[in-house]
Amino acid sequence: MAAATTLDIPASYYRDTVAVGLDACPPLEGDQRADVCVIGGGVTGCSAALHLAERGYSVRLLEAREVGFGASGRSGGQILPGLGTDIATVEHALGRERARAIWEMSREAVRLTAGLVERHAIPCDLAWGFLHAAVKPRHVRELQAFQERMARDYEYTDMAWLEGPALRERVVTDIYPGALYEGEGGHLHPLNYTLGLARAAQRAGVTICEESAVQTIRRGQPARVETDGGSVTADFVVVAANAYLGGLVPELEGRTMRAAN
Ligand SMILES: Cc1cc2nc3c(=O)[nH]c(=O)nc-3n(C[C@H](O)[C@H](O)[C@H](O)COP(=O)(O)OP(=O)(O)OC[C@H]3O[C@@H](n4cnc5c(N)ncnc54)[C@H](O)[C@@H]3O)c2cc1C
Repeated sequence: MAAATTLDIPASYYRDTVAVGLDACPPLEGDQRADVCVIGGGVTGCSAALHLAERGYSVRLLEAREVGFGASGRSGGQILPGLGTDIATVEHALGRERARAIWEMSREAVRLTAGLVERHAIPCDLAWGFLHAAVKPRHVRELQAFQERMARDYEYTDMAWLEGPALRERVVTDIYPGALYEGEGGHLHPLNYTLGLARAAQRAGVTICEESAVQTIRRGQPARVETDGGSVTADFVVVAANAYLGGLVPELEGRTMRAAN
């Protein structure tokens, strides 16, 4: 089955400022064996490969293009607790206790990111502090209500409302009527972070094959993952190919949507 990775790699600041070199990642050749075959070299695949290798599994990671080719190498690089949807919606759907558990899980993800950067000395310009800027008076009310709610119901207090000179210290403009500063949020260089995870995975024993688009997954015990150049027979397969899956996993077709190139 053909994989849908036909996009060119776009030029970017991130790509121009790569600070992490990987050991050679030649394309997959011949028939190989591994405990786990990971498909996709973004943060999901590289982190999964790293953590599995640290637990003693032999891991081979197959990347269709090059590590960080996908969203991981060109995202905004913003790190924030929370979900894409606001916490009030989560609470409404699942109740307060579950929403609190999800919120705590998202904070744990932020701490995990920070821990990985530190443990593997990843040069990704990690910096802490995030401003939710209000553009309209309505945003002022909403952000202040969010701050109150999070302190009251989630014991999440590392936030401060800034306006006037206090805000001007952070951003060189008077255009915003105010902003919510969040101490647990931050920013990193996403491509260097992804490459840093891949380098850590290599050091932990993972074999990474770039230019190795998976064409077929033959399910079974073990499974067989095939590219044009070779195959990996593995007890477990981790599919971490994001929205570039094509028809590789038919059950997921129709559940992902490419928003833009
Ligand atoms: C424009 C943009 C801005 C974003 N900003 C942020 C942000 O500021 N903060 C944030 O937290 N998140 C942000 N995100 C989301 C975040 O980037 C993604 O959630 C995350 O990078 C997904 O990582 P991934 O490893 O799952 O997927 P990807 O990084 O997309 O990796 C998937 C990989 O799988 C490979 N692949 C696909 N098919 C195959 C195949 N058949 N065989 C082998 N390999 C294959 C691809 O080549 C790709 O390298 C942003 C996303 C976008 C698009």
